[in-house]
Amino acid sequence: MRLLRRRWPMAIICILGLIIFLGNAPGIFEGNMIKGKVNENTAQAVSGTKAYDGQADNVKNQSDNSQGTTAASPAASDLKGELKVHFIDVGQADSILVQQGNAAMLVDGGNNEDGPGVKCYLEQQKITQLDYVVGTHAHEDHIGGLDTVINSFKVGKVYFPKQTATTATYKDFVKAVKNKGLSFTAPVVGDTFKLGDATCTIIAPNGTSYEDPNDYSIVIKVTYGNNSFLLTGDAEAKSEAEIVAKGMNISADVLKVGHHGSKSSTSQSFLDKVNPRYAVISVGKGNDYGHPTQETLNRLKNKGVKIYRTDENGTVIAVSNGRDISFKTQPGTY
Ligand SMILES: [Zn+2]
Repeated sequence: MRLLRRRWPMAIICILGLIIFLGNAPGIFEGNMIKGKVNENTAQAVSGTKAYDGQADNVKNQSDNSQGTTAASPAASDLKGELKVHFIDVGQADSILVQQGNAAMLVDGGNNEDGPGVKCYLEQQKITQLDYVVGTHAHEDHIGGLDTVINSFKVGKVYFPKQTATTATYKDFVKAVKNKGLSFTAPVVGDTFKLGDATCTIIAPNGTSYEDPNDYSIVIKVTYGNNSFLLTGDAEAKSEAEIVAKGMNISADVLKVGHHGSKSSTSQSFLDKVNPRYAVISVGKGNDYGHPTQETLNRLKNKGVKIYRTDENGTVIAVSNGRDISFKTQPGTY
């Protein structure tokens, strides 16, 4: 598949993908467009101690853009549309498309090689504009494909934590943002913004300096009517503990399991507070990290949380009407 993808021009792959998509939307990435790939940047390539080193001109504080903490979703009974959350199968990586009405947000863009596939997937969803692009943190498996996405679509605002890296991936990401005349918006915990009739609330990061780059991950709660989704990036137990200590309402119907199901995330106290009905694990088949770990799977199983896994069933699509959530994908195994 890798050879095929290299030899075939992306336009042909995209058209082929569209044909396949028309017949079988949720399975689009299974085996042809994006396949599991084991690639996670080494921790030393990314640091977070000096916020936005060398990128100061590219940073602005969010407070001038924030719609404040008062933005609220309409009552479930008033909602006429749907909130659609696509956990795109990008292998051992994250890329999540959130759609409400004509508004769209992309949280992470997979690895570098996933960029064209994510772009193609967005085009298939008839996306021409992304109101928000969120790079949860600086690792390649989250921001790798975002330069391609930013270069390809109209983009409103780009959220990125106060973290920097020396990698070519990070530099490409920054360059794409700058070339578009955009800048990073730093997440401020508690701030909210609207995505159509949905409300997004920044939950983390709560600290300013972390040893583990994953803990810089932007965590967002998306609320639509009575339903909610918690998107956690690769936040680890440290960030989870801070979130719990903060005392915000983090209960959610759907938890995007942190760090691809690593045992160092989804700590029991955090899971108890979120208390999800469903969990989605974005993970590559046969990855080198042993993700998702049995410990995390057991924690979810013991709470009776139904799980969905991109390694088992490809792209996972959840649809909320503000009252109920349905999945267009088969459940996964523990
Ligand atoms: Zn990751």
